[in-house]
Amino acid sequence: MPERKDSDSRKLLLRLRETLAAPGGGQHRLDQITHHIADSMGTQVCSIYLFRDPDTLELCATEGLKPESVHQTRLRLGEGLVGRVARTGRHVNTANAPSEPGFRYMPETGEEIFSSFLGVPIQRVGERLGVLVVQSRDARQFSEDEVYGLEVVAMVLAEMAELGAFLGSQADSLPLQHRFPVMFRGGTGQEGCAEGRVWLHEPRVVVTNPVADDPLKEKARLVEAVAMLRTTVDSMLAATDMGGGDSAEVMETYRMFAHSRSWLRRMEEAIELGLSAEAAVEKEQSQARARLESAADPYLRDRLHDLDDLSNRLLRILTGQGRDTGAEMPDDPILVARNIGPAELLDYGRRLRGVVLEEGSVGSHAAIVARALAIPLVIHAERITSEALNGDQILVDGDMGTVHLRPEESVAKAFRDKMAMQAEAQKRYAGLRDLPATATCGTTVQLYMNAGLMADLPSLESSGAEGVGLFRTELQFLTRTRVPRRGELAALYAHVLDNAHGKPVMFRTLDIGSDKVLPYMKPQDEPNPAMGWRAIRVGLDKRGVLRMQLQALIRAAVGRPLHVMFPFITEMHEFEEAHKLLMEQLAREQRLGHAMPSDIRVGAMLETPSLAFAPRKFFEMCDFISVGGNDLKQFFFAADRENERVRRRYDTLNTSFITLLDQIVQRCDEARVPVSFCGEDAGRPIEAMTFAALGFRRLSMRPASIGPVKHLIRRVNLGELRRVIDDARELGETNLRRCITEWLARQ
Ligand code: PEP
Ligand code: MG
Repeated sequence: MPERKDSDSRKLLLRLRETLAAPGGGQHRLDQITHHIADSMGTQVCSIYLFRDPDTLELCATEGLKPESVHQTRLRLGEGLVGRVARTGRHVNTANAPSEPGFRYMPETGEEIFSSFLGVPIQRVGERLGVLVVQSRDARQFSEDEVYGLEVVAMVLAEMAELGAFLGSQADSLPLQHRFPVMFRGGTGQEGCAEGRVWLHEPRVVVTNPVADDPLKEKARLVEAVAMLRTTVDSMLAATDMGGGDSAEVMETYRMFAHSRSWLRRMEEAIELGLSAEAAVEKEQSQARARLESAADPYLRDRLHDLDDLSNRLLRILTGQGRDTGAEMPDDPILVARNIGPAELLDYGRRLRGVVLEEGSVGSHAAIVARALAIPLVIHAERITSEALNGDQILVDGDMGTVHLRPEESVAKAFRDKMAMQAEAQKRYAGLRDLPATATCGTTVQLYMNAGLMADLPSLESSGAEGVGLFRTELQFLTRTRVPRRGELAALYAHVLDNAHGKPVMFRTLDIGSDKVLPYMKPQDEPNPAMGWRAIRVGLDKRGVLRMQLQALIRAAVGRPLHVMFPFITEMHEFEEAHKLLMEQLAREQRLGHAMPSDIRVGAMLETPSLAFAPRKFFEMCDFISVGGNDLKQFFFAADRENERVRRRYDTLNTSFITLLDQIVQRCDEARVPVSFCGEDAGRPIEAMTFAALGFRRLSMRPASIGPVKHLIRRVNLGELRRVIDDARELGETNLRRCITEWLARQ
């Protein structure tokens, strides 16, 4: 590792720090810096290229190339050797630059006389700011120490840029990082649009002292901070019972990283070269991030994430900067985070206008909470936490899964127009609130809402929903550190019923397990969690929790009707057993002297194709059936609902799926059991209208969808639509969407 250059390098960094401290404009500083670097490295050329826009680099200062090329020479990302360094985030070191593939000759710079080339990225934890280059006449390869030394210098330049050292230069007019508009294409976690200001869940740590002159002191600070980090990580892991298996192994690797000697050694080496402890941590972090971006192996990516996470913790220890930086949350906050847990998201609650995550998935706990809070959520917005700064203007389009950061005015205007149109439509729908969803043929469809939080209940009134068709009970379990007590749950369910003011509420028992792992439950590490040990399967295998939940529901009802439905029933006997368990709890509660519900209805969720073919007796046993279209569709098409690649691949209006739904309605009708549809598709007007034409007389959806669905159903003749569907099936259409929309256009 670097020996020869240690003192030179330290001297250079100290000179850079002096340059930073000295008065003078940004351009002057850039010029000085290139001069110092060329001098210290013994090269004829040193140049700094910075991004003008996300695709263009501009030569902003040089020692050795023709001065008139400064601010004139530009390169596209990926163009020439400089462009390659910028695109890949990796250094290029060559003794014979013109012979390198992709070399681009720029006559205005006069660089043709320089043979050797070393370019390193100027980057700061995932943010690419530009490229630092040294060149010399003699054809020599730069040593590893020199490469390393130049990377350290580039790191300091990135920190200086962050601190505004180059403001006042012509470079200042460049739309550098954090200034230009950026668009992110992610995935939809929850529909809806919002405009607001960025609020970073974990604000970036600001390093104000990249260069230090006492390496011994810095190393001592680092060692002390790492010791603290190790203690925290050890006690964190000790407090979490991982119960063996893959997760335990993952956590063990995390611990191993924290204790890694080579990690510490690399940071100490950077300190030797003149960096402060904080800057040394950031240097390691930047490199891990750059590797992360190019790593395809998911296991390796996870490990690099661990390293990133540990670096953040270490930086916070060193700088004393916690999450609370004292900044004030804007009035219209849009939360930007790499990922967030359900409890943390609930803490922010409805204050948030929207949420943007770098990771996450549609089925993640955060997505469930965002859905319950009806906050637009975009997931998989890669790199947004490196790009966004607190207070930046941001537009979130949950319908399209896109995000505009610091948008151009024209984009913002178009976005506002779209939001205004949506608001206008909502106003129109509000006028329908107290009217029934009666089609022109006279058929009425009951529109219910889905809920999962107390906070959802006011929507019963405002949306005009006739009841809660699906109350997901997972959230109260997911957001606690222990199993909630029966008394707590009974009080909550009672409160829900109080606030429903006599409207029916269908409580679905816990749909948990596999991917929805409770913080206090042993993770199972199943290869295919959606088809694994979940919902009623867990309930019947580990009856204690289900019993307790059923008792809480019975106690909450006191003299009022109680609707209970069991999720993910696959075979008749599962329903029989769950039903029996409920009856046993009723008898028990009665024995104990608790008041009984005035009426009890027991339903099943039909979420697996097998249940559609269950014996007739099953349908007769149920008091009601609710089709969980989200799961039913994923299992019918064998397409994971959380996999962005396939989740939209098959259309709900595919003839086979519609035929399945048709058969389900028929079987329910024959057994005279009411059937509803409560998956996300019930909230899409065309799908909802089609379900109504198939014979569904109850649909349950997000409260915001009730208006648009009602508006459409009231306009159409469901009998006529039924004929359109039958004719298209008769004609052998594989998808009914075209026929249905064409028919609709003629109305
Ligand atoms: C469904 O599967 O359609 C459903 C309503 O349940 P969840 O989305 O909670 O799995
Ligand atoms: Mg489901």
